[in-house]
Amino acid sequence: MNIIVLLKQVPNTTEVKLDPKTGNLIREGIESIVNPDDLHAIEAAVALKEKDGAKITALSMGPPQAIDALSEAMGMGVDESILLSDKAFAGADTWATSFTLGKAIEKIGEFDLILCGRQAIDGDTAQIGPQVAECLGIPQVSYVFEIEEIEKNGIIVKRRIEEGFERIRTSMPALLTVIGEMNTPRYPVVSNLLDACREKAPIKVWNAADIGVTTSEVGLEGSFTNVIKTFAPKSGRAGEVLEGDTKTQVKTLIGKLKENLLV
Ligand SMILES: Cc1cc2nc3c(=O)[nH]c(=O)nc-3n(C[C@H](O)[C@H](O)[C@H](O)COP(=O)(O)OP(=O)(O)OC[C@H]3O[C@@H](n4cnc5c(N)ncnc54)[C@H](O)[C@@H]3O)c2cc1C
Repeated sequence: MNIIVLLKQVPNTTEVKLDPKTGNLIREGIESIVNPDDLHAIEAAVALKEKDGAKITALSMGPPQAIDALSEAMGMGVDESILLSDKAFAGADTWATSFTLGKAIEKIGEFDLILCGRQAIDGDTAQIGPQVAECLGIPQVSYVFEIEEIEKNGIIVKRRIEEGFERIRTSMPALLTVIGEMNTPRYPVVSNLLDACREKAPIKVWNAADIGVTTSEVGLEGSFTNVIKTFAPKSGRAGEVLEGDTKTQVKTLIGKLKENLLV
């Protein structure tokens, strides 16, 4: 079985700070990590490889430093990694990102399963998985927390819904977006990490020409949406921390509520 895992390198924070003048994300001093949901996608792929045998390819679009995220994936048991990196990809909206990933997947060739995270903690749209599936014209199941069975030509999975779960059978190739409930990601193995660093298992870097796209189809030029303004909402209300032990705090709180005619 050939599995492709999509992974994104993200800043290690959910508290996104923006430069008030430019509206750009302030990345200085913030460590980069593999998007948390994507670690669960890698773990699910490696578990399938251990069970039935598989070749796993990790694919990421990002700046050159995203190679660190792919190295971590190699450490966890991914066989091959590809970084899509080109100035032409910069400023991509979710459509342009999905289109670029889709084109790279077409170049990779045969695959049975694409696994990706449900959502990235920075962009937060949860659009990439479903859009990549649409670009490739394959079925998709989102919110997957269990791969129950791989059949001859299909797969049975469980997806989380508000009231419980749905059990879905779909044909393959298919794309699954996975959630954190799925598994516990393993730590990278040092010898695998060293192999990635020593270029025993080199990480390939592809640019726009490598995947056969023109600059007008990708990045900012290929994006249908444009961010006009980005800003962090200001909180209009000031908080107050009540001093003293719990009894005093409760007494003060009730006093304040009465004062404001709330009780
Ligand atoms: C108009 C516009 C302009 C933008 N300009 C920029 C910009 O200049 N620079 C910039 O950095 N971002 C930019 N972005 C953000 C960028 O488009 C998104 O970060 C990107 O499309 C991924 O969306 P997301 O983070 O919401 O991922 P989600 O859809 O929440 O991610 C779901 C899953 O998809 C996979 N995935 C997501 N992104 C990637 C990726 N890059 N490679 C591989 N797998 C991935 C992962 O498995 C992830 O868990 C822009 C967005 C918009 C709308």
